[in-house]
Amino acid sequence: MKRFEQAPSSLDAFATTKLDALEAKNQRRCLVTSARAGAMSMHVDGGPELISFTDNDYLGLSTHPDVVEAAAAAAHRFGAGAGASRLVTGNHPLYTELEKRLARIKGTEDACVFGSGYLANVGIIPTLVGKNDLIIADELVHTCIHAGMQLSRATVRFFPHSEVTHVHDILKAERAKHSRVIIVVDGVYSMDGDIAPLKELGLLAADYDAWLMNDDAHALGTIGGGRGSAHACGAEGLVPLQMGTLSKAVGSYGGYLAASKPVTDLMRTRARPFIYTTGLPPAAVGAAVKALDLIEHDRALVTRPTMLAQRFAHAMGLPKPDTPIVPLVIGTEADALNASANLADVGFKVIAFRPPTVPEGTSRLRFSFSASHRDHDVERLIAACKKLGLGGIS
Ligand SMILES: *Cc1c(COP(=O)(O)O)cnc(C)c1O
Repeated sequence: MKRFEQAPSSLDAFATTKLDALEAKNQRRCLVTSARAGAMSMHVDGGPELISFTDNDYLGLSTHPDVVEAAAAAAHRFGAGAGASRLVTGNHPLYTELEKRLARIKGTEDACVFGSGYLANVGIIPTLVGKNDLIIADELVHTCIHAGMQLSRATVRFFPHSEVTHVHDILKAERAKHSRVIIVVDGVYSMDGDIAPLKELGLLAADYDAWLMNDDAHALGTIGGGRGSAHACGAEGLVPLQMGTLSKAVGSYGGYLAASKPVTDLMRTRARPFIYTTGLPPAAVGAAVKALDLIEHDRALVTRPTMLAQRFAHAMGLPKPDTPIVPLVIGTEADALNASANLADVGFKVIAFRPPTVPEGTSRLRFSFSASHRDHDVERLIAACKKLGLGGIS
């Protein structure tokens, strides 16, 4: 094709040089084709079957027959796509049901659904704070929160991971200089699996009239009886802005903010990534409604992933996790990639996470457990890790 040969050479040179530099640091990323075959098994690039201990489908709901059926039924009834943004004609009837259920499960007055978790964070933050305001953020918050903070143009102060006294210091020194203040944390930190100190932060926020926001991407459906981090921490009523995603334990796609009615109404009126993007495909919304049904009513389903994570961590001599996520910090990028490749050779898919997703020198395997893992999958994983010399103190 002639046209491609005429790409400006400076453009390709830029891209190639950039990629080569990343390659040299073992930081280049490559897509592999993952054909999921059932809840937790997959074939990568057409290779042999691997059991995945790496995805965020904590309850296996993305392949649950009732959820898949609900998605299909929604598509048949309302079409493959929404056809327009929600404020135009894309607000199909399943949205109302979904938002009602989200509010119920999170214990808030209302909920507002966005196109994805990323879009939610990019929308919520700039809608609430601007140039003369302050955001106090945990240093480990998810990348899309960083994007939202930048777009807001508010002053941003980071605090060392989960150190509430630092938040207090920042509030004491700077609260008076700003009209509105948001404190933002992840409910569960995806790379470490720990839970934010929401009760302490919530009380502090109330003292200083700051608004506490948690990103519950990894917490809805997994902790607090499935209701997320505020419930797990006994901080109900202390977190007025509960954001999250429908793409992890819920097994579908989409993001949300659970909050009071005035706040969700403001989002629907002002949040750009709400207004200027097409509504979710009806199938995604139908699937999420059904999945939330299962989360609300099946207690054993919700507790199983963390139980399996604890079993694994115990056997490996690692600290006891409170969530389905168990990090095994390896160190260098090369060593982490190597450990991941070795596990793949014996039938397990466990991704090596590297900078900039995690801090330099802390490349790691991140194991995530799902209700659809069978007991013997976990036993085999433990045996394989031990044989490879991975693990903690024991
Ligand atoms: C995955 C994730 C998101 C993004 O959610 P999507 O719906 O996948 O866009 C946001 N925050 C955290 C903490 C996440 O882990």
